[in-house]
Amino acid sequence: MDEFDAAEVLRLYWLGQSDTISSQKIILAMCPFCGKGDRIHLLNHEDTNFLASNDNYWAAWEKLSSLERLPGICRFCLNVVIIRGGQAEMPG
Ligand SMILES: [Zn+2]
Repeated sequence: MDEFDAAEVLRLYWLGQSDTISSQKIILAMCPFCGKGDRIHLLNHEDTNFLASNDNYWAAWEKLSSLERLPGICRFCLNVVIIRGGQAEMPG
């Protein structure tokens, strides 16, 4: 699985979780896909009833997250981005 595939796995899961997305922390970074500056939410599982059995999701999560970076999603264009140093980057 490359980063692009991993981002797609996360995107497909979170598309069904729009209420949860809106409750996640907003990162004030510009979306590299659509250019909106205030629509990126950090992805976070802490208060979701999460499908812990979804191995493919966790493989994708591991691929895209580390100490320096975390996955986020743009609520405007619904693309997954990587948050690093307060900036949003395209995966891959
Ligand atoms: Zn966007």
